[in-house]
Amino acid sequence: MSHKYEADALRKRALIHLSHAYPTTLDEWDHLPDELPWDGEALEIAAVARQLGADWILPTSFYRICQRSFDRAIITGDELSDADKVNCIKGLRYLETTGATNVLDFLLAPYSNCSTRARCMESRQTIRREVETERRKYDAERFTEMPLELFLEDPAANVCVDCFSKMKEVHEDARKELWDDLPRIFGLDDWKKLEAMKAEALK
Ligand SMILES: [Zn+2]
Repeated sequence: MSHKYEADALRKRALIHLSHAYPTTLDEWDHLPDELPWDGEALEIAAVARQLGADWILPTSFYRICQRSFDRAIITGDELSDADKVNCIKGLRYLETTGATNVLDFLLAPYSNCSTRARCMESRQTIRREVETERRKYDAERFTEMPLELFLEDPAANVCVDCFSKMKEVHEDARKELWDDLPRIFGLDDWKKLEAMKAEALK
């Protein structure tokens, strides 16, 4: 076996392995096991993805960086280029503000098909207030919960069945929208281009 062939085969195997842990669809993301290989090494993963030209790994590895790295590690580390450091910090700011607010909107929206509107609305507002109380406790030494992970478990809401199913739907739609937007949030090409790139590299 030639050296070139071996290197290509190895590269492809590494890419396939990485692509499982850093998927391009929300469904795959939601079904990842709790423990991932190289967990907590998102900065190194993003650097490797850049080196290998595996851009489809970047949206989720940048997302993981935002989840598990403090600003100082992103800024002072030598894993990322200056441009990618800016992409990460810009993305992080967006996720913590607009991104989180959009995902939490299901706790504010009035749902018209409801016969106990006042009670349901009050219950949603109570939960929203609790969430905002948590969000007020900013701590630079603690990781913020990222919007895709907010309310993955059903909220303990005292609402009617109609409101409950509508809330779940609005929440899931907002997560989906955020996922679709993830590459743009980090200054990357859209999923369609990234997935075409992935298909080409892994064929
Ligand atoms: Zn209701």
